[in-house]
Amino acid sequence: MDMGLKGKRALVCASSKGLGRGCAEALAGEGVNLVLNARGPEALEDTAAQIRAAYGVDVVTVAGDITAAEVQTQVIEAAAGVDILVTNAGGPPPGMWSDWSRDDFIAAFDANMLAPIALIQGLMPAMIEKGWGRVVNITSASVKAPIPVLGLSNTARTGLTGFVAGTARQVAGSGVTINNLLPGIHATDRAVSLDQGVVAAQGITMEEAKAQREATIPAGRYGTAEEFGAACAFLCSDKAGFIVGQNLLLDGGAINATI
Ligand code: NAP
Repeated sequence: MDMGLKGKRALVCASSKGLGRGCAEALAGEGVNLVLNARGPEALEDTAAQIRAAYGVDVVTVAGDITAAEVQTQVIEAAAGVDILVTNAGGPPPGMWSDWSRDDFIAAFDANMLAPIALIQGLMPAMIEKGWGRVVNITSASVKAPIPVLGLSNTARTGLTGFVAGTARQVAGSGVTINNLLPGIHATDRAVSLDQGVVAAQGITMEEAKAQREATIPAGRYGTAEEFGAACAFLCSDKAGFIVGQNLLLDGGAINATI
């Protein structure tokens, strides 16, 4: 299937590793030129070089913490005029509802709600102007079914989901779609760190923690960044123009719900 993406340009945030990188690679595979961002410059440059070599697309990098206002400004400048925006950032740490302070909530809002909104506000007007655009936000399965130890994620990402639900309908008439991808457990560094949390809480081995979490997934395994990226590329494609304001769950069937 021709996704109709060749020659387009995308910003993919938090994309030196994991799900963001999966999205960047899938878009590059469709001929999309990229602006990539992550905090650590070394992994970011390595990823950019590998993507250039593998797919022959242009890749620009902006190293910095996407939750910081000045980095958002730099990224928006570097990505001015992009056709596609994929928002992403690290997830909040696990913990207990009674322990989180106001500052913990503000940090989670900055990363998983306010940064995506700032990027949408910065880059979507030009998409509306030219009559075509795609915004995909990487959120979490925690939006659909809360994960108690990830209360900061449950809270902040639900706020972004509410913003998208209304805004997507305001801009759909301009040829711009906004949708969210909701990852369940995927085999990335984030999954390893959450496995380590289970190890610490239950005094079991990493293998036991992984097996325990895999047993909660009907597919019997963690998802891959490649599978996740393919879904992102489809939502960004020309074929997906009638998909508006949706929340696509990629969780191997883990959430037991009819809809
Ligand atoms: P990951 O493998 O840890 O990769 C995170 C990527 O984001 C890295 O490239 C990292 O590079 C970058 N990053 C992190 N914080 C950043 C920031 N503040 N500014 C700029 N770049 C940043 O994580 P992942 O598994 O891909 O997860 C991506 C998102 O999906 C997270 O929000 C996570 O909570 C969510 N999620 C993941 C899963 C899962 O099972 N993997 C499930 C549900 C939700 P630097 O560290 O160099 O910045």
